[in-house]
Amino acid sequence: PPGQSPNAITFKELQSILSETPKAEKAREWSRYYTSGPHLAGKNYSQVLWTQERWEEFGIKTDVVAYDTYLNYPLGHRLALYESQGAEQAEDTASWKVKFEASLKEDVLEEDESTGLENRIPTFHGYSASGNVTAPYVYVNYGTYQDFEDLLKANITLEGKIALVRYGDIFRGLKVKRAGELGMVGAVIFTDPGDDGPISDDDGVGTYPNGPARNPSSVQRGSTQYLSVAPGDPTTPGYPSKPGVPREPVDGKIPNIPSIPISYADAIPILSALNGHGPAAKDFGPYWQQNLGLQYKGVEYNIGPSPDTLLLNLVNEQEYVTTPIWNVIGVINGTLADEVIVIGNHRDAWVVGGAGDPNSGSAALTEVIRSFGVALSKGWKPLRTIVFASWDGEEYGLVGSTEWVEEFLPWLSHANVAYVNVDVATVGPNFHASASPLLNKVMYEVANLVQSPNQTIPGQTVGDLWDGEITTMGSGSDFTAFQDFAGVPSIDLGFGPDPANPGDNAGTIYHYHSNYDSFHWMETFGDPGFHYHATVAKLWGLFTARLAESPVIPLNATDYAVALEQYISDVESKVDATIAGTTTPKDEAEARTRPTPGEPKGDIEALKLAFDKLHEAARKLKKAAQAHDTWAATLSDRAGEDLPWWKWLTKLKLIIRIRRVNVKYKYLERQFLHQEGLDGRSWFKHVVFAPGLWTGYSGAVFPGLTEALDTKDYDNAQRWAGIIEGKLSQAAGSLK
Ligand code: GLU
Ligand code: CA
Ligand code: ZN
Ligand code: ZN
Repeated sequence: PPGQSPNAITFKELQSILSETPKAEKAREWSRYYTSGPHLAGKNYSQVLWTQERWEEFGIKTDVVAYDTYLNYPLGHRLALYESQGAEQAEDTASWKVKFEASLKEDVLEEDESTGLENRIPTFHGYSASGNVTAPYVYVNYGTYQDFEDLLKANITLEGKIALVRYGDIFRGLKVKRAGELGMVGAVIFTDPGDDGPISDDDGVGTYPNGPARNPSSVQRGSTQYLSVAPGDPTTPGYPSKPGVPREPVDGKIPNIPSIPISYADAIPILSALNGHGPAAKDFGPYWQQNLGLQYKGVEYNIGPSPDTLLLNLVNEQEYVTTPIWNVIGVINGTLADEVIVIGNHRDAWVVGGAGDPNSGSAALTEVIRSFGVALSKGWKPLRTIVFASWDGEEYGLVGSTEWVEEFLPWLSHANVAYVNVDVATVGPNFHASASPLLNKVMYEVANLVQSPNQTIPGQTVGDLWDGEITTMGSGSDFTAFQDFAGVPSIDLGFGPDPANPGDNAGTIYHYHSNYDSFHWMETFGDPGFHYHATVAKLWGLFTARLAESPVIPLNATDYAVALEQYISDVESKVDATIAGTTTPKDEAEARTRPTPGEPKGDIEALKLAFDKLHEAARKLKKAAQAHDTWAATLSDRAGEDLPWWKWLTKLKLIIRIRRVNVKYKYLERQFLHQEGLDGRSWFKHVVFAPGLWTGYSGAVFPGLTEALDTKDYDNAQRWAGIIEGKLSQAAGSLK
């Protein structure tokens, strides 16, 4: 900081270290290590030690922070289709024949050794219920709220049946949730290759390992926790799962009916057995018709239900335990202890490999830390404290990060300036980011500092090849507790598949949560050469360095205010459209995920006035934000000036002013927390961002307000508009 004795290296030198140290070969080595053995939550202790040893070697002090969490591990499963010769014979159990026995296994591939390991992890769902049910089954499309409604309207009995659901559109746990609420007795979730986009076996491009299309036996594991209610250990909502703490019941947070994930190879015979039974999916409109990828395999996509002579037997056997999980936490103490930057990635994975999820991120994090280690060895000490996290238990429901944030909430609320998350660092060439708008500016600056690995013109940066869109924060990774519970401005970044260029970059089909998310897949299709891994390490390190080293915290309040104005206008147009009785295709698609609203409560016209007030509050916030950012920029310029020693009083004054500006930046995001939380999900405290209640992954803006509008509860919408207006004014006041 200005006025302090000069650092051993300049910021420029630090930037060079952070851009030049990360190496593709090193990332490859770390990826090789992390993808070489199973690492389910609570069963990855050797990787905890390895991570800790590497970080210590690089000169970082580390600690392991453990929690006792409620988790399930797979014991057994079965899925079989039974057929009886006729209705009369159906009474006689002995007459039933097994028509098809699902393998529930992913093929062992000679080319990909990790697929054949003895200790590979079975296919199962995190937080799924044990059970053994035999029942007729119904194809329920994506299992959104309206998919089930469509079936009920068509007089299809759902109660007592098993749901055959395809992955896609909404978080998997919400599919099982709704099936259970409707009295269905089990759920089987399959991957339809039609949802993969343009590449499928149907196109003759070859399936993994021979080509880029999905391997037919690949299975997407994953959590079925009801994540939009609350993430973290379901037995300790809001407080840390330390040994001996009281535990709450899990009802209403995880499914009460058994579910299993299956491949499309296993789904084909089960789907085909429905041919000719019940209505066809295509009779239910465009939402049901899209991406049906198995017609070329003879699947006609009939709804069913299967006749009484055709039953599914679904067995899911899970062992539930309360068991330790481990976050590895590293720290570089800065000059300022009350300004802290946290960066993190999860370490647990559903499969041995997890080369994309999360190990591309874990390999990049290792390179980031190695790079900071190089700077430390040159005598560098950061201005702000930097904390590194390797989270456990993300896959089950963001458990390691959520428990940690819950435990250290007082400290984080006081000191945490920002959180930078990378989950999947790379499974393709397309850069993406979602963030609190406070961090947009740093993201754009940093994207322009790093060379892109796929330049068509020499010198092109990541920023040059990026469309520049920064999406709003939803959920599905470890930023959630920081952003939505603690009010810490967060960002999540990485490279994903390029849907526009399937033939070009063969990594398009990402075998998410499957055995084929392996080192071999990464090396052959995902990121051959590991250049994107190194690129993420550079972006991540430089991003962190800006936040940690700029004398004036480089958050941008104006960007937040401008975004808020836009969100208000967006919600207002929805209100206008409701009054006018018009809808957009996007609204209609969203409406498929939630219940049809009942009779309106309150007056929608009166609500229009609330928007005038919201706009006014946002305008005031923007004014305060612009003034604050301008003052901050002035101070930032002055901090860069070289003053002679005898100007020490000027320097001291400058430091005091900068500290004041920084305190305001640090607490700006916190102003949007509402301690009572959102309706029906009080864990979520942020009034601007939350995961979509009915979608899980995608972000909702002003969730309290929009959910009230969606249910046509205009009185409640008024109440939320008032709450939001209060927060906007409070935020403006905090900057004065
Ligand atoms: N990344 C995990 C998934 O999408 C997160 C699960 C969760 O948020 O509960 O399956
Ligand atoms: Ca907890
Ligand atoms: Zn992940
Ligand atoms: Zn995952």
